[in-house]
Amino acid sequence: MSTERIRNFCIIAHIDHGKSTLADRLLERTQAISTREFRNQMLDDMDLERERGITIKASAVALTLRRGETEYNLNLIDTPGHVDFSYEVSRSLGSCEGALLLVDASQGVEAQTVANTYLAMEHDLVIIPVVSKIDLPQSRPYEVLAEMEKTLGISSEEALMVSAKSGEGVDQIFDAIIKYIPPPKGDPSGPLRALIFDSEYDAYRGVIIYLRVFDGSLKVGDEIFMIKTRRSFKVEEVGVFKPKMAPKNGLFTGEVGYCIANIKSIHDVKVGDTVTLNKEKAEKPLTGYRQPIPMVYCGIYPVDNADFKVLREALERLSLNDSSFSFIPETSQALGFGFRCGFLGLLHMDIVQERLERESHINIVQTAPNVTYEILKTNKEVIRVDNPESVPPVNEIDEFREPMVRSSFVLPTEYLGAIMQLAEARRGRYKSTEYLSEKRAILVYELPLAEIIFDFFDKMKSATRGYGTLDYDLIGYESADLVKLDILVGGKRVDALSTIVHKKDAEVRGRKQVKKLKKEISRHLFEVVLQAAIGSRVIARETIKPIAKNVTAKCYGGDITRKRKLLEKQKEGKKRMKSVGNVEIPQKAFLSVLSID
Ligand code: GDP
Ligand code: MG
Repeated sequence: MSTERIRNFCIIAHIDHGKSTLADRLLERTQAISTREFRNQMLDDMDLERERGITIKASAVALTLRRGETEYNLNLIDTPGHVDFSYEVSRSLGSCEGALLLVDASQGVEAQTVANTYLAMEHDLVIIPVVSKIDLPQSRPYEVLAEMEKTLGISSEEALMVSAKSGEGVDQIFDAIIKYIPPPKGDPSGPLRALIFDSEYDAYRGVIIYLRVFDGSLKVGDEIFMIKTRRSFKVEEVGVFKPKMAPKNGLFTGEVGYCIANIKSIHDVKVGDTVTLNKEKAEKPLTGYRQPIPMVYCGIYPVDNADFKVLREALERLSLNDSSFSFIPETSQALGFGFRCGFLGLLHMDIVQERLERESHINIVQTAPNVTYEILKTNKEVIRVDNPESVPPVNEIDEFREPMVRSSFVLPTEYLGAIMQLAEARRGRYKSTEYLSEKRAILVYELPLAEIIFDFFDKMKSATRGYGTLDYDLIGYESADLVKLDILVGGKRVDALSTIVHKKDAEVRGRKQVKKLKKEISRHLFEVVLQAAIGSRVIARETIKPIAKNVTAKCYGGDITRKRKLLEKQKEGKKRMKSVGNVEIPQKAFLSVLSID
């Protein structure tokens, strides 16, 4: 089978620039789904994605386009637009020959537009520039084109104008895909090489592998061999997503689809691995993906210790569909048995937490996130630290190193001053300013990643009235003056409340944290003392005054239902409490160290 009529492409854009809406239009025009089945944004199928309006996982859909006598097979691979998920973007790009680069006609080039375009260029994709949402009254397509030309070096003559809402320009997109994006190369008669770009666990069918065939073909009954994991399986079903799974006899060179092979364990499939055949093994694997490195960690604990096993199972399920998420068991004196979990970024952490609660109905306590540090010990050993608990004593530390990122802000020039101020306050190092136009600029700073995970996005958004956007890349580790800041409740150090902070900020943060905790912890029958300390030196202190009264006292013994309601409410509140000694600390308090002002 020839690859002449296959086109594999993706859509890249900054978040909210209209990628999912355009994907819907493309699906609708090719009648990949009937109108009855149609619901907006078919590709974002996780409930959470729909609610939050972001695309988290890369999915793929096969479209059939008729042009006269010819039928084309177009494969659309969806990509996420958030900075946390550039790893998933990279995975999707590796399976395509071309990309539609979407830029909102009213917003212009934003931080992830630039980042994703560079990623597409690195993968040698043909880029088709598309200005979207041209129906909006405030759209300024020609200015946006000029911005694209200036920053991305994309010729504005090649650009298409589209409204996914009205459908204007959608047909020209199909024409451009066929004309400019090359059909996949590869050797149809060679030994099979297929790249695993995603996987999913299905309770009935086992692991479903998403793959792109680069050479050869894959048929039902074949014995596959996965080069990295060195496991073999017999293929039960192959097919394409339309967008529902549609079985076929085989998947051929250039095609994108799925494979089911009675694979029971998630650990037998590695995203980025190459699938070949047992009887005729390919010699060289395809270039896979670099393993994503979790940069943000936090502890996740069941509120009820009896839920530990349920939590472990839930985490295992999640990690199957999200290879960038990691977890290992840990114990905390304050919280008992739980897990240290690694994430790509803050949004990723939020999403995992929400999915856990939603899909497994367990109440969990999450500790404040931290980044991964490197410590050079006096004995010359270098250790990676992803938990404040594993910071060695001060006298054993030669050098404390933290991850640094290169962050690019895209913003209206009138807010340059405000963002520079914010970046300087977060220990940022100014690098450059580049003008997109008279009104908008790209500002580049080097910043400690740890400073970005502390409510930085919100600050940046409010400093720019919502017009600023940010993207960042890890540049490496750098030595810094860091210390571990401990919190003591009733004289006891609460391990789950320890954080790593810069020495010059330690006192201010310590003072704010105990103030904040004071607000979060309710009054007890006894006095509760809160302290912040570095080593044995206490740097801040607050006390919570005792109360004597029972909450039901104010019911005057009369109304029994009201009394019961109050007690139930109290019990409900307790669900999200953890006791430290005899002090009850609410779940919110463990995160309160995050927002410090
Ligand atoms: P994504 O984050 O890139 O997937 O963006 P979405 O497709 O979710 O779109 C973000 C918002 O823009 C949604 O509220 C859409 O309804 C809206 N939108 C998308 N395309 C158009 C368009 O062509 N015209 C108008 N007026 N709104 C659009
Ligand atoms: Mg979307």
